[in-house]
Order: sequence, then structure tokens, then C-alpha cells
Amino acid sequence: MTKRFHIIVGDGCSNCRICARICPKGNIDLSGEKPAIGDDCLFCLGCVHHCKENVFTINNEKNSEERYSNPHIKVSEIIKSNNML
Ligand code: SF4
Ligand code: SF4
Repeated sequence: MTKRFHIIVGDGCSNCRICARICPKGNIDLSGEKPAIGDDCLFCLGCVHHCKENVFTINNEKNSEERYSNPHIKVSEIIKSNNML
């Protein structure tokens, strides 16, 4: 899947760390100049949809300004769920 689809890391990261905390695989490294996505990606798109700076896009994405988050689930609940795994 990651060969056909991959996430492109753009500019504008404010280092809020939400993507790294929301990733269920701990697959985002924020220690460099830009966020880095590793090889252990489920393509859940949590990072793409929850980055407020819209740093991430998907290759060949048609609506890269459109982002969605479930209004019934808080980011803190997702992060808490990840920590409970
Ligand atoms: S969620 Fe977006 S702004 Fe926040 S650390 Fe990740 S890439 Fe940067
Ligand atoms: S798509 Fe999901 S699994 Fe892949 S890096 Fe983003 S949050 Fe992690």
C-alpha cells in the first residue's frame, strides 16, 4: 500500500507534536528539521487529518485542503487510546 500511496511532508510544522502522539505506530519522528514518517505506517491518515498546519499531503491528492476529524472523538481520546495499547 505504501508504494502506491505515501504521505508527503511539507513545510510549516509548528512542532505541536500532535501527529507523533496520535500515530498508533509511533511512526513519526520529530527530532529533525521536518517531521519524518518511518516505514511502519498503517496509512490510517490520523497524522494527515489532525495536523492543524496541513503539513502532510498524500501523493496525487485531489483535495489537499480538505481535512476531517470526527467531532465525537477528541484528539486526547485517541492519544489516550494509543497509550493504552
Ligand atoms: S501535527 Fe503538524 S504542526 Fe504538529 S508536529 Fe505534526 S507536522 Fe508539525
Ligand atoms: S498514517 Fe497513521 S500510521 Fe501512518 S504515520 Fe500517519 S498516523 Fe502513523
